[in-house]
Amino acid sequence: MALLEKSFKEISPVDVGIIYEGERLRWKETHVELGGIRCDKKFEVVKARNMDEIEDEKTIVVGKDIGELEPENTYRFGILVEVAGAQVEEELEGVFERRIHDFTNWINGVMHLNQRYDVVIRIGKKTFKEGFTKFQYWGDVLCKLFKEELPIIEKMQVTFITDPDKVEEMYAKALEIYEARDARARGLRDEEVGEFYACTLCQSFAPTHVCVVTPSRISLCGAISWFDARAAARIDPEGANFPIEKGELLDDVVGEYSGVNEIVKKRSMGETERVYLHSIFDYPHTSCGCFEAIAFYIPEVDGIGIVNRDFKGKTPNGLTFAELSSQVGGGAQVNGFVGMAIEYIRSYKFLEKEGGLDRVVWMPQFVKDRVMDALDGMTEKIATEEDVETLEDLENFLRNANHPVVERWVEEEIPAEAAEVEVGGMVAPSLTPTIEAGTITLPGGTLLPGIGGGVKIVLKGAKIYAEKVIIRKMEKGK
Ligand code: SF4
Repeated sequence: MALLEKSFKEISPVDVGIIYEGERLRWKETHVELGGIRCDKKFEVVKARNMDEIEDEKTIVVGKDIGELEPENTYRFGILVEVAGAQVEEELEGVFERRIHDFTNWINGVMHLNQRYDVVIRIGKKTFKEGFTKFQYWGDVLCKLFKEELPIIEKMQVTFITDPDKVEEMYAKALEIYEARDARARGLRDEEVGEFYACTLCQSFAPTHVCVVTPSRISLCGAISWFDARAAARIDPEGANFPIEKGELLDDVVGEYSGVNEIVKKRSMGETERVYLHSIFDYPHTSCGCFEAIAFYIPEVDGIGIVNRDFKGKTPNGLTFAELSSQVGGGAQVNGFVGMAIEYIRSYKFLEKEGGLDRVVWMPQFVKDRVMDALDGMTEKIATEEDVETLEDLENFLRNANHPVVERWVEEEIPAEAAEVEVGGMVAPSLTPTIEAGTITLPGGTLLPGIGGGVKIVLKGAKIYAEKVIIRKMEKGK
């Protein structure tokens, strides 16, 4: 009997349904982890094939099956989904590929995060105990859901790879496929198209998040280009990808369009009213949780850092990717931070408001290698973890490299009479704090008791809003 005629109960030992999308599995609840940050090679890829090239509803396992994998461990992993049908084209591969994420998440006790070469899949202990011990179940669920939800797929074959050598071999091929897809979208400009596209696929995790995909701004997961979103909207007009009329161009430099604002406001349920497509300040694009990288402002050098998901160390400001992403994700719009795809660095509009690449001061070597050919004269001026560790190192590096950002370091003395600080909604003129005996004081009251000497805080015309403040204890001499 064909899978389409079977119920999920007949093909999987655990329940399958949209209600399980958004489930999170912690490490202690995890039987095995496939891919993820602890593992160097992982991928998922979809390829369009001719009808006679694949066997319908077939699951192939290369390497150990789920039940043969040692529990509480992480494995190199790959999924190859091959699809065929009269209307199935190469242009749809990226769109189909992104659906592996939500369809896998429909399986009770299986969690799928991220995309492409960044995937993390966890199979829960409870799910394993209930009999989810074979990739066959997962393959059948995918075949059934893909064919049900995307009826243009007539034939589908799934291959799961846990053999580490085979993963390595196929990983290299997958990277070539992603690169070829991304390259196709380069060169097309926003003004050359009549409409942009939205993606709301991540609303299961981040209910108010709306991705705006334009030729100059690939989605922040890096998996959906403007071409992909257009193809998806054509085959499934009621689905997660749909067109956005651009409307009026309100500001070309920040990338603000009336049509984008309108759709984002509507689809974020009023949470986000304005979006700057090409700035990390004021109204940056919202960030779900699938972003490949984060761009973050580093006030100490007035520059921008970029950190990717797989970077295991600390950025020069002492924060890891996970610490930064906890501030940015969930569909929030956070001033000074934005989730983005690495491919976006290549865009002719890349953070145009902030000065584009000329404002980027730090990125991991991995990211630098990925976009090396697009860095132009900035290759030697942008620091990596191999050049600097701390903010002080970074400042010295930038000075020595004659980075364009150094020109911005003009120290400006503002007369004390001109200084203003807003406190409790009132503007207090000439409010200059002083430090005495370990206490930071503003005229009229004590603000921050107990902080040691050697600190100088000058507030000039400042308004400070903070949802969270991280205070770190410094070791003596550092
Ligand atoms: S990150 Fe954006 S484009 Fe990618 S799947 Fe999520 S909503 Fe869609």
